[in-house]
Amino acid sequence: MIDSPKHQGLRNRLAEALKEKGIVDNAVLDAIRVIPRHLFLDSSFEGFAYQDKAFPIGAGQTISHPYTVAFQSQLLRVKKDDKILEIGTGSGYQTAVLVAMGARVYSVERQNELYKKTSYLLPRLGIRPKLMTFGDGYKGLPGYAPFDSIIVTAGAPFIPQPLMEQLKIGGRLIIPLGEEVQIMTELVRINETQFEKYEYGDFKFVPLLENKN
Ligand code: SAH
Repeated sequence: MIDSPKHQGLRNRLAEALKEKGIVDNAVLDAIRVIPRHLFLDSSFEGFAYQDKAFPIGAGQTISHPYTVAFQSQLLRVKKDDKILEIGTGSGYQTAVLVAMGARVYSVERQNELYKKTSYLLPRLGIRPKLMTFGDGYKGLPGYAPFDSIIVTAGAPFIPQPLMEQLKIGGRLIIPLGEEVQIMTELVRINETQFEKYEYGDFKFVPLLENKN
């Protein structure tokens, strides 16, 4: 678990590259500069950790591209102490970025293997989400709702109703929608019954799965 000046240099370069690709939220770029992404990957991928690439993290899942993490984090418009629900903990990298931005993060992962691995890793790195839990993200976390915002980090075939219900008024849900390719979608809760929808282009995610393995 070594984080060296060389890694720091690579992270600074990654943040610059993301800025050139259009990421303008400085809190997001600062978090990218701070979180040691190489420690979230198997050591065989360590040399590539600061390229803008997705990699396998076990259990058939991938850590999202840094650009995707930065783009979703920017769409969340995180304010300090925001209470954020994340669906799809995976490697915990996105979780760590949101915690570094000052959010109170509640994260759900449906694969026990990944849940266990990541809930062991994050505290060792000094990163403390409010809650990491093993469960089905389609249901959200009704016991902890409402949330200032919700981020889904797997491709969803439709918007799960419970996630809409668990948003505060004025809160936003960021969710990649679609089967083969996903459209990054933002849903803002206007009042009890109305939502405004915005779309931000195509992305590629592993699927949000319904049945537990
Ligand atoms: N944010 C993660 C992305 C991991 S990929 C990272 O940066 O590493 C998407 C994750 O969503 C996988 O870990 C997958 O197991 C998880 N997932 C898929 N369906 C889910 C569901 N219904 N509920 C919760 N997590 C789910």
